[in-house]
Amino acid sequence: VKSIAVLTSGGDSQGMNAAVRAVVRSALFHGLEVYAVQRGYYGLIHDDIRQMDLRSVGDIIQRGGTILQTARCKEFLTEEGRQVAVENLRRRGIDGLVVIGGDGSYQGANKLSQLGIKTMGLPGTIDNDIPFTDFTIGFDTAVSIVVDAINKLRDTMTSHERSSVVEVMGRHCGDIALYAGLASGAEAILVPEVPFSIDDIADRMKENFQHGKRHSIIIVAEGVGRGEDIACQITERNGIEPRVTVLGHIQRGGTPTHNDRILASRLGDFAVRQLMAGDSGKACGIINGELVATPIDQVVATKKTFNKDLYDLALRLSQ
Ligand code: ATP
Repeated sequence: VKSIAVLTSGGDSQGMNAAVRAVVRSALFHGLEVYAVQRGYYGLIHDDIRQMDLRSVGDIIQRGGTILQTARCKEFLTEEGRQVAVENLRRRGIDGLVVIGGDGSYQGANKLSQLGIKTMGLPGTIDNDIPFTDFTIGFDTAVSIVVDAINKLRDTMTSHERSSVVEVMGRHCGDIALYAGLASGAEAILVPEVPFSIDDIADRMKENFQHGKRHSIIIVAEGVGRGEDIACQITERNGIEPRVTVLGHIQRGGTPTHNDRILASRLGDFAVRQLMAGDSGKACGIINGELVATPIDQVVATKKTFNKDLYDLALRLSQ
């Protein structure tokens, strides 16, 4: 490839800017022309494309959100919409594209690859729900935001309320709940990947309080249901009335952690090098520290494996 574009698509996540910066700077370093597409696939269809230079991505590595903005675009789901997108790229001589987003965005990238544009996907989502990478860009920051929030809840809980239910994001994936739960010493972690019994949780809470436990945190992944409902079910069983906190979109904001910036930088540079090598229709990830590119077909057809060892560890340590 001689000229590439980069876009962000789907839900935003912290570290997307660091990834955009890495793609732009790495492409320029290798002598490619590089363009940015505003608002994901919408901008591709509506020709909202501009050329980037080294300075275009200055002062963004530390910023949350995405300077390229993101969108969900219905037109791109149609054959005609995608044809317009390809024509817009071709007219500028752009023959490669890096798509930063979730699995829906990956599928879009795959379709463009089939139409002759070389594409690479980067996992940009806080949910950590994408297989063939240990972590997605934004996940580490989201977890640290949840842990920070729970630290604050603990302070006030020890003084007043004795129990909290914290609902966290992650869609169908329990990883934010799992990692934040382990890191903050949660008493129970409810995730969609592992069956649980509210009876057992309620009994254990009651026992622990009888044995002098001063506070308890129950983390509920949104894929399991609403924190409010879980709290009601607990109260019905043991009389304890947990306070409910729904963290919501604050989990998706703020400055990315160094881990997310490094992950984004490595993946962005890798995607450019893969495109230069002629690769296409692949999703980039890091597995056990190694950079890997996996066919998007395989990525979207595979369910992310849940780390049961970490889950069991969290259980053992929460007595
Ligand atoms: P996240 O899960 O983090 O929100 P995502 O990338 O999965 O991110 P989606 O809304 O599923 O978010 O997808 C983003 C955009 O990608 C869609 O608005 C659409 O334009 C495009 N897209 C999604 N699925 C497909 C598909 N099967 N074929 C072509 N394009 C698609």
